[in-house]
Amino acid sequence: MNLRPVVLKLGGSVITEKAKPLTPNLKAVKRLAEEISDAKVTPLIVVHGGGSFGHPVASMYKIAKGFTNKGQLVGFSKTHEAMVSLNKIVVQSLLDKGLPAFGMPPSSFVITKKGRIHFFQEETLKQAVETGLIPVLYGDAVLDVDTGFAILSGDQISAFLAVRMKAERLVMGVDVDGVYTADPKTDPSARLKRHLTLAELRKMKGQVGGATVTDVTGGMLGKMSELITPVAQGVNALIVNALKPGNICKALRGEEVIGTRIER
Ligand code: ADP
Repeated sequence: MNLRPVVLKLGGSVITEKAKPLTPNLKAVKRLAEEISDAKVTPLIVVHGGGSFGHPVASMYKIAKGFTNKGQLVGFSKTHEAMVSLNKIVVQSLLDKGLPAFGMPPSSFVITKKGRIHFFQEETLKQAVETGLIPVLYGDAVLDVDTGFAILSGDQISAFLAVRMKAERLVMGVDVDGVYTADPKTDPSARLKRHLTLAELRKMKGQVGGATVTDVTGGMLGKMSELITPVAQGVNALIVNALKPGNICKALRGEEVIGTRIER
């Protein structure tokens, strides 16, 4: 492929009401579709998280722990189906703006090994991009060569794609303004970090000794560890608040926006 795509990850905390099972944040999804349309970036690959669609059923059947009993099989499929229904909402909102969005289920072309991407049949995705479609992938319940099945996060998928597709940039939309010195939802003294380096990412993950620069936990820590490989390979990543109107449009265009820029 000649053109390097922009990879956009939309967090589950942005596109769903996290506390209410199976409830999309339709207002946010529609506004984001409009921003993606306004940004006019091509090629573009969208990946979204699960939020309140994937997590409740996956945890009820303990899908992330792997295959231990046949009773989980129904839960594996139900987890996937919940994600398919969220994907339909995202894809339809993009289609409503006239964008050629195309839902692609990761479980149909990815197999993991202990939860990490092991096999990725990329030809279909590449051809979809070359044809001019906007693939819309998502965190999914996938088959795993070691554990039977696993939960593959949208964060892992988007970081993987950023490397494999040599992304122009990777934009991650979340429900906070970026990476802070501590979780801004619980620590009012947390300060936003506008820039992070690869060395700082590695420190966060404990790969390098010494004091950590930030107190990053939960979902944000997972994102930071996924970003190590793409950033090491020269992909610039940007974490922005996708709940604030205008941010995703600016970030997609490469314009100045409040957030955390992560560079090698
Ligand atoms: P999403 O579901 O949108 O992908 P997550 O909920 O997985 O996002 O991760 C984002 C969350 O990480 C934030 O809402 C925030 O509460 C939490 N978090 C923890 N530590 C930090 C930190 N140091 N800076 C920013 N966010 C943090």
